[in-house]
Amino acid sequence: MNFTLEKSATAFAEAKRYIPGGVNSPVRSFRGVGGTPPFIAKAAGSRIYDIDGNSYIDYVGSWGPMILGHAHPEVIGELTEALMRGTSYGAPTLLETELARLITEAVPSMELVRFVNSGTEATMSALRLARAYTKRNKIVKFIGCYHGHHDSLLIKAGSGAATFGVPDSPGVPDSIASNTLTVEYNDAAGLAAIFEKQGEDIAAVIIEPVPGNMGMVLPRPGYLEAVRDITEKHGALLIFDEVMSGFRVAYGGAQEVFNITPDLTCLGKVIGGGLPVAAYGGRRDIMELIAPSGPVYQAGTLSGNPLAMTAGIATLHLLMQTETFYEDVTKMTAALCAGIKAQAEKHGFNFQFHQLGTMFGLFFSETPVYDYASAKQSDIAAFNIFFHAMLEQGIYLAPSQFEAAFMSGAHSQADIDATIAASGNAFAKVAQYYSQQKA
Ligand SMILES: *Cc1c(COP(=O)(O)O)cnc(C)c1O
Repeated sequence: MNFTLEKSATAFAEAKRYIPGGVNSPVRSFRGVGGTPPFIAKAAGSRIYDIDGNSYIDYVGSWGPMILGHAHPEVIGELTEALMRGTSYGAPTLLETELARLITEAVPSMELVRFVNSGTEATMSALRLARAYTKRNKIVKFIGCYHGHHDSLLIKAGSGAATFGVPDSPGVPDSIASNTLTVEYNDAAGLAAIFEKQGEDIAAVIIEPVPGNMGMVLPRPGYLEAVRDITEKHGALLIFDEVMSGFRVAYGGAQEVFNITPDLTCLGKVIGGGLPVAAYGGRRDIMELIAPSGPVYQAGTLSGNPLAMTAGIATLHLLMQTETFYEDVTKMTAALCAGIKAQAEKHGFNFQFHQLGTMFGLFFSETPVYDYASAKQSDIAAFNIFFHAMLEQGIYLAPSQFEAAFMSGAHSQADIDATIAASGNAFAKVAQYYSQQKA
């Protein structure tokens, strides 16, 4: 066991010559945890393999899509056949109708579906639609929720108060940010207060019903119902951003689990089976406003791409094929969380474990985490030690305390046992760090 990332370090330096920060999405750079990101050569099943010859049990799953594991033979088979028929036509196909049908059957609140290429595009388009439908300009988002990187939603604001948004990034005009109101997740009273003041100007509330982008957080009992009631009362649309939770916490997403009917829903990640697909959809009367049936413009050269549709259809078919898929993988996820929690407790840590379906997360915090402010209480230094100790033992977690983790149908009991054992060693290192700090 001599773990090195020498080749990856060279590759990273080379990448930085041509790509900002060496990566095409910032969190891949390991900026949060330090060190070198492994450069990946291939993936299969529950594992990914880097160019240094290391292999890892993967709980990132390309940040959510790979619910069947990597390179699932049937998905690859369908893709290989599709590839031979050409990669893009820019004209309607049967595949688009088929994937749209599968989605409307899984998520009945989505009566009509429009495909796009990324979650960012889906939420951006859903907001435009909501503004057009309600003829209002403001939107509400929750602090710590991520909906992609377009201007209106790249805003988290510094306090839980109902303040005007402050852009998270230079380049987002204040004039756009000022239309985005923010409030802490799980704070129904805070949301109600915003609506009491500005309800007549609010087009929509966009929410990750089960947030996974501040680490994984769960809704308090009754919270999502309250969000639904408040939006309905004030004539604002409720947009569920289920780009992560859709087909992940359950086949029908968080709206199935919590039995809430949003007006619009955004999907991504799993529905593309590892290819770039996302979608937005919802009530027919709202969606009919989208061009060409209505005046709200939204388009895409590669939208509904035949390869991407093929991967999505194959993935959803496989998810449906095994009736107990979610039950089985949820049980595996619960076993993994219980095992890691026991290892933490063995070292005296009372950390926060969250799980819903095949999605899970761990906060290095001894106090409950239910929103962004409480998530921020986590001990980042301890997480980083844990993260690197796991990586060196061949366990690939997201390189940030503030990300969720994902189980797939390809993970085996042996994978879980190995991960739990590795976590014991990693917690030992964390304990060592704490005792050194005290000394
Ligand atoms: C990943 C994610 C997005 C953004 O999707 P991209 O395809 O990366 O643009 C939006 N919302 C949520 C909840 C996500 O997890």
